[in-house]
Amino acid sequence: MEQTLSIIKPDATKRNITGRINAMIEDSGLRIIAQKRIILDLKMAEGFYEVHKERPFFRDLCDYMTSAPVIVQVLQGKNAIEDYRKLMGSTDPKNAEDGTIRKAYALGIQENSVHGSDSPENAKIEIGYFFSDNEIIA
Ligand code: GDP
Repeated sequence: MEQTLSIIKPDATKRNITGRINAMIEDSGLRIIAQKRIILDLKMAEGFYEVHKERPFFRDLCDYMTSAPVIVQVLQGKNAIEDYRKLMGSTDPKNAEDGTIRKAYALGIQENSVHGSDSPENAKIEIGYFFSDNEIIA
């Protein structure tokens, strides 16, 4: 079994659609094995998106991610990382495929409703960023 870190982003918590996103996650066969609603502070957001710190959108991205609560969650499945990336759809919702979360709900390239880890290495780091082992109940 594989685990991945998911974040339901501020645009989705603001619109009260976290349950609908969770339904899409569960309908796809992934299991939510840890979940909490938090407000990221700027330090947490900057640390999480460290890899993007040289990108022109970094400041906007960190401001957005701290603008409302987020839901951080651990998803489990046989190929959880790749399966969740597929379920999320393309970063820019204009390019997202039918049936994906971003096609259904994203507002734009930044306000795109969900995050999912992109590799096993990053999944491990990102899960550890938000959860201790005893908070993850498989
Ligand atoms: P992801 O793996 O599909 O989430 O995409 P990336 O890792 O490339 O980017 C991380 C996040 O930064 C995205 O999910 C968006 O919220 C945001 N982002 C990516 N590209 C852009 C962009 O060109 N402009 C803005 N404003 N935000 C972006």
